[in-house]
Amino acid sequence: MNTTTSTTPAVKPKLRIATTSLAGCFGCHASLCDIDERILALAEVAEFDRSPLTDIKHVRPQCDIGLIEGGVANAENVHVLREFRANCKVLVAVGACAINGGLPASRNHLDVTECLRRVYCDRGEGDRQVPNDPELPLLLAQVHPINEVVRIDYFIPGCPPSGDAIWKFLTDLIAGRMPRLDHALLRFD
Ligand code: SF4
Repeated sequence: MNTTTSTTPAVKPKLRIATTSLAGCFGCHASLCDIDERILALAEVAEFDRSPLTDIKHVRPQCDIGLIEGGVANAENVHVLREFRANCKVLVAVGACAINGGLPASRNHLDVTECLRRVYCDRGEGDRQVPNDPELPLLLAQVHPINEVVRIDYFIPGCPPSGDAIWKFLTDLIAGRMPRLDHALLRFD
């Protein structure tokens, strides 16, 4: 009688990574795609949760890493950012807009009501009204860095950070190391 028992090695569950763009231009997501074929190595250990790369609409609980591009410019941005914070173990501000508001924050010295009036009422053809459909998220008076709304664990500077910087950051984090970017990978433009 064969008394040996076969045991199947436990399959390590993949990490989950969620990404979103708040008030951003998707340039930081383009940089994520710049990791090119390394995404195959990433797919060995991780899968994407809510992201423009998937059709998942909400971050599922206990997501491992949340990558946030863009600052906070409207009520929907606040809602999405809070959902990420509630469901992601580690939350990362990716790029200048997430870290300090970036280009969208250049409107901060202007009055929002006046901006809307100038754009929609003073120019062009049509009914010349500020759009007020309830589906449209309300603009905030100013664009905020995301750390003014929720706690952030890490920041990756740059406009955008390079694909190499994002790759180094993710591989450090996934390996359980403190993420470190060498000088050559840091950029502030
Ligand atoms: Fe775009 Fe730069 Fe903002 Fe990233 S940091 S979303 S690349 S403007």
